[in-house]
Amino acid sequence: MSTSRSSTATDTPPTTLSAGGPSLLEVHDAVLLDLDGVVYVGPHAVPHAADSLTRAVGDGARLAFITNNASRPPSTVAAHLRELGVPAQDGDVVTSAQAAARHLQQRLDAGSRVLLIGGAGLAEALEAAGLTAVGSLADGPVAVVQGFSPDTSWARLAEATHAVRSGLWWVATNLDSTVPTPGGPAPGNGLLVQLVARAAGRDPDVVCGKPERALFDEAVARLGARRALVVGDRLDTDLQGARTAGLTGLLVLTGVTGVVELLAAAPAERPHLVGRDLRSLRDAHPGPVVERGEDELVVRCRDAAVRIGAGGASVVAAAAGPDGLDLLRAAAEAVWQARDAGLERDWRVDASVLVEPVVRSLPADTPAAVDEVGEGVGDGL
Ligand SMILES: [Mg+2]
Repeated sequence: MSTSRSSTATDTPPTTLSAGGPSLLEVHDAVLLDLDGVVYVGPHAVPHAADSLTRAVGDGARLAFITNNASRPPSTVAAHLRELGVPAQDGDVVTSAQAAARHLQQRLDAGSRVLLIGGAGLAEALEAAGLTAVGSLADGPVAVVQGFSPDTSWARLAEATHAVRSGLWWVATNLDSTVPTPGGPAPGNGLLVQLVARAAGRDPDVVCGKPERALFDEAVARLGARRALVVGDRLDTDLQGARTAGLTGLLVLTGVTGVVELLAAAPAERPHLVGRDLRSLRDAHPGPVVERGEDELVVRCRDAAVRIGAGGASVVAAAAGPDGLDLLRAAAEAVWQARDAGLERDWRVDASVLVEPVVRSLPADTPAAVDEVGEGVGDGL
């Protein structure tokens, strides 16, 4: 198991779980929300998302919906959200296309020509930033911007390749390797960017989408937020991005991350907080308490406790707590602390034995609980 390779960037206490105060909405003045797996899954709203966000807005919270998807204009995304009952205005949606356009706006003179490889959302963002989208190298662009569009052809990719080979500044909206489709994952912008990079022999100069910080910076600037909270379901985009941008990250268990992935999280992609779903914006988030002895580590979270020591890893007290996540918090903190300190290796501990009891302690309607019990727990840590 490669455990500490990324410890150079963040091997300090902030890689552990934090306490979140009586309610996250009392601590944070803005909430930057990932969409798929947090607010909706495909065409359906995530349970409790619309109600929780409506209440949050009623309480004065400012929301931004941040997405790596550069192909849909914000108005389209906002309309979809309103259909699901989520209070969203067009200006609340922040896309990687807008972050890319903002980057180019800061770098280039007003009206500069930019070779556009992408869809309507990216074209709209360039125009709003006062830049001129062009379709060919012969039009004299001074930069290239590449975002996802299902209509990108070989001819467009060839044009992009020629442009970046000529040395033009090259901005990618995001590097997601896949996009969700009704039939399952399909090639995303990251793979299309890779095609150009391989053909041109170089990488993009700038990437704007999660986990890079440009998208978060754009949202924070737009809201004028001082203490923004990032909410996401993916460790390697949302939560890593929150840390990169210096923001607090809340993982919700309504998307792709379950117990196995959380316990295995590298320091750079760990959340500061864990919640069941968007109701957790109003939950109290207790910080785990670590007791370190000579040959064991005990982590408590309210009434839950997990021990990792020379005799193995075990649940000392399986209390779930008010939101059902206290044992998960204790286990994650214990595994991370033991791993970061090299104790898991020294004590020859197999922390994967914690997965099954933790999954069983989760609320029954938590997707992570349902998925992992169904698939057989304990593998892959
Ligand atoms: Mg997501």
